[in-house]
Amino acid sequence: MGENMSKIKGLKAREVLDSRGNPTVECDIITDKGLFRAMVPSGASAGQHEAVELRDGIATRYLGKGVHKAVANANSFISEEIVGLDCTDQKEIDETMIELDGTENKGKFGANAILAVSMACCKAGAAEKGIPLYRYIGELFGSNPDTIPVPMCNVINGGKHAGQENDIQEHMIMPVGAANFTEGIRMVSETYHCLKSLLKKKFGAGAMLIGDEGGFAPPQLKTVQERLGLVTEAIKKAGYENEMVFTLDSASSEFFRDGVYTVGTKKMSGGEMIDFYADLIKTYPIVSIEDGLAEDDWDSWVEMTKKLGDKIQIVGDDLFVTNTKRVKKGIELKAANSVLIKLNQIGTVTETLGAIKMAYDTKWTAVVSHRSGETEDSFIADLVVGVNAGQIKTGAPARSDRNAKYNQLIRIEEELGSKAKYLGRKFR
Ligand code: PEP
Ligand code: MG
Repeated sequence: MGENMSKIKGLKAREVLDSRGNPTVECDIITDKGLFRAMVPSGASAGQHEAVELRDGIATRYLGKGVHKAVANANSFISEEIVGLDCTDQKEIDETMIELDGTENKGKFGANAILAVSMACCKAGAAEKGIPLYRYIGELFGSNPDTIPVPMCNVINGGKHAGQENDIQEHMIMPVGAANFTEGIRMVSETYHCLKSLLKKKFGAGAMLIGDEGGFAPPQLKTVQERLGLVTEAIKKAGYENEMVFTLDSASSEFFRDGVYTVGTKKMSGGEMIDFYADLIKTYPIVSIEDGLAEDDWDSWVEMTKKLGDKIQIVGDDLFVTNTKRVKKGIELKAANSVLIKLNQIGTVTETLGAIKMAYDTKWTAVVSHRSGETEDSFIADLVVGVNAGQIKTGAPARSDRNAKYNQLIRIEEELGSKAKYLGRKFR
């Protein structure tokens, strides 16, 4: 009876909206335990080497961004093979879809179709076992989940997330001095609101408008120095001067053309970018820089890791795209010391866990991340605890697409009680 009980009885995918108002794929998996739903996010500053996000390209629907093809693939080809499988066999489910798709980059069915099914099956598997999702992910990964992450909260949005060009994308604060996650997110929220009132006072109401990840996007603050300067004031105003540190995501592939990085009006080589970061980390308590260099500028990544790798965390996002082939190359070259983890860059839960494992095996860190286009699905909150990654970035503490994840972490911390570990300053 047990075997039959855990079988997938039905699969239904549909087109719904993400936080930017673009269509995305949602999937329901039906088992004897009920209905389990997952939704797929979408990037704006997406890496060139990411798995394919299949869009219809029909200009008369959602300006070409419709996902009817991906939805149809899930409801036909994928459903035919997945219905009847054991929902607790995540590896078999994911490998079946990878094989069926048959391409390197999931270009046939779309990583958006495949990931929606993969995540929904994972939730069904947890329910089948009668355990919380983070604990189930821990079983799949081979860990004992007890670590609640230190959040990196993107309080000033720049670059593509704020309609800007040649601009650093994310300016994040990390409450490393907090006693636990719940206190940490309170400190971040208070700082965020102090920043809001400073912006209004200095520049007027227009400066309080926000970008794709819920952080402020003040056009008046053009440089990283100006932005971090004002965030420093906000931190002081909130009373957390010694409790917060900064992290940046440059998303530099967006401003790298023909071997030149353009930040504002300044043009720089890879070496000059590294000097720019070296100066910044002398002035501000920056502990981590993501995509400081472009996705295929491997030589500069190696150089940056050599120069700054013992001082700060150097995170590859577009560089690695959660793909073990690229992470392996990065490890061999010593091109970073941390991997950003985004499920939809690779397209299945199993492959995502593989990328995290590869990072851990070489003593690198893994930072679990949202996308700039998000949904109310809080899967990544369970993922980050499930693998004890200790760090998550999921936007400002504002807008429900972002707070869905932070709120789930508050719940998980409560559930773990005295067993919950918050690494604070020892986050890496
Ligand atoms: C990022 O670059 O880390 C990010 C979250 O942005 P996007 O989802 O637009 O790639
Ligand atoms: Mg990034």
